[in-house]
Amino acid sequence: MIDIEVNAYLEELEKQQPVPNWISEMETYAKENHVPIMEPLGVAFLKQLIMLRKPQRILEIGTAIGYSALQMIEGNPEAKIVSIERNPDMIAQATKNILQQQKNDAITIIEGDALELLKEIEKHGPFDFIFIDAAKGQYKRFFELYESVLTTDGVIVTDNVLFKGYVTNQEEAPRRLKNLVAKIKHYNEWLMQRKDYETHIYPIGDGIAISIKNQ
Ligand code: SAH
Ligand code: MG
Repeated sequence: MIDIEVNAYLEELEKQQPVPNWISEMETYAKENHVPIMEPLGVAFLKQLIMLRKPQRILEIGTAIGYSALQMIEGNPEAKIVSIERNPDMIAQATKNILQQQKNDAITIIEGDALELLKEIEKHGPFDFIFIDAAKGQYKRFFELYESVLTTDGVIVTDNVLFKGYVTNQEEAPRRLKNLVAKIKHYNEWLMQRKDYETHIYPIGDGIAISIKNQ
């Protein structure tokens, strides 16, 4: 996402740090099965945000195979995560991975469409950290829906806000993605205009927005 060369250099450099097998196995699985998990530098950034901020209750929208949820728990083993996923195959895979890591007490998967689960999620809240990483065309709706369960000094992190570089280079986007790219661009502008959050966007991974609620 950043300069391709810089990105390749940093990803290569990071390989010098030992990673537990389960992480590389999940990355391989995701690659082989085209599961859009976070990019290496993006997930490293998210994990360190968690290490610094130490949220206790995290809401994740978009579990996929449980990769980012497990990485967040690595960042703060004390945290509890509620993670929403609508795809049954993903839920099965995530459940297996979370059990394998014995993190089923820390991570609860809620099944269904995030746009219809506010009532259910309210029972688990409030949350001091929300991570939005599901259908990119719905980001604004996810944000508007779930900010109601955010604590007064909470943080909302959104992934893929630069979407393969297409957001800054809309002409390059394949025709079928143009509408989606326009929506993400609109979301980024809308985030910036929200006076009740301080938002900055970082060109890490696929682009990450951090929105901190003003107290
Ligand atoms: N956070 C994961 C990747 C998530 S990929 C990681 O980095 O490891 C996005 C996931 O969001 C997909 O599995 C998709 O099925 C799910 N999703 C998309 N829209 C959704 C919705 N409206 N409700 C629930 N899940 C949704
Ligand atoms: Mg993502």
